[in-house]
Amino acid sequence: MAKENPIYESLAPLGFETAGSACFGIWSGYAVSLRQSQSNYLIELAARTDRKDKQLRKNVHKAVKQRCSKRYHGCYENGKAMVFTVSFDRKTPFDEQVTAFLDVFVSVLRENGVAPAETCSVCGGAHPDSLCWLDGYQPVHAACVRSLSEQTREKAEHNQENGSYLTGILGGIVGMLAGLVPSLLTILWMERIYGVLFALVPLAAMWGYRKCRGKQNTAAIVIVIVLSLLGVFVLEAVVVAIGVTREYGMAFGTAFSLTMSYLVTGEGFVAMLGDCIMEFVFMAVGILLAWGYLRQTNTTAIAAMDAVAGTLRPIGDAAPVESGAATEQT
Ligand SMILES: [Zn+2]
Repeated sequence: MAKENPIYESLAPLGFETAGSACFGIWSGYAVSLRQSQSNYLIELAARTDRKDKQLRKNVHKAVKQRCSKRYHGCYENGKAMVFTVSFDRKTPFDEQVTAFLDVFVSVLRENGVAPAETCSVCGGAHPDSLCWLDGYQPVHAACVRSLSEQTREKAEHNQENGSYLTGILGGIVGMLAGLVPSLLTILWMERIYGVLFALVPLAAMWGYRKCRGKQNTAAIVIVIVLSLLGVFVLEAVVVAIGVTREYGMAFGTAFSLTMSYLVTGEGFVAMLGDCIMEFVFMAVGILLAWGYLRQTNTTAIAAMDAVAGTLRPIGDAAPVESGAATEQT
């Protein structure tokens, strides 16, 4: 697994916990989380604000900018939290930097009338009794998280019992063909191949596979990779057939079946492999780009939801740490 994050470690004495790639705790009544975003960090304070209120974001940004070091880079709100982008230097202890940021954020939010979130992040209801890492540290009803967890488990078990490779593969083929269209259009009209468009092929194939109730396990990943590689052949065959159509004024259907019957001969197959090496490389990259989506299976869905449920803490148990009383030596 990933090595310990020194920033998260420095926050442990303040009651912050680390789960996966995020760290979270309570600061002055706000549920707070930190996570990495490329070379920066996002610090989120759970608060319910009006997403349409652009003025609020501007006011908060201006006030924070005046009081923070140049390592504050901007803020936005996502309806559930105010999110601040920051970075850290290596000279000052990390916990000091984080708490300095948090103290500014909290006082600016308070000045702008943005109170800590008081509703459940799952159902929106009042009087949340717990806190939970749900793509951000958020107040929730423990019962809401348990029922989410239960639903995930039931859905996964249902798919494991009733999912079908046959319908899944059919859906995957349709998805793969649809995913090829943008690549085909750029090849025909711009005479260029955009490698990044190839990522659409495995994404669309997996989407089709799942939509058509394909069994979601490791075999599904293999099926989609095979379909995506087959997609390269389909793409090449269509491009060749369209070339033949243009050249000899032949109907596309005839040209396509001619191309296909050439491709299934050993000689045609080898010629084609030679022609498609770049495309296969692009497709491999596309599969890697789509990997986060492809790798989700029933098992990973349950594990991810279990990890979420594992961060559930009753409010009050996670003793709020007030700013100032931070660094006690023991
Ligand atoms: Zn709820």
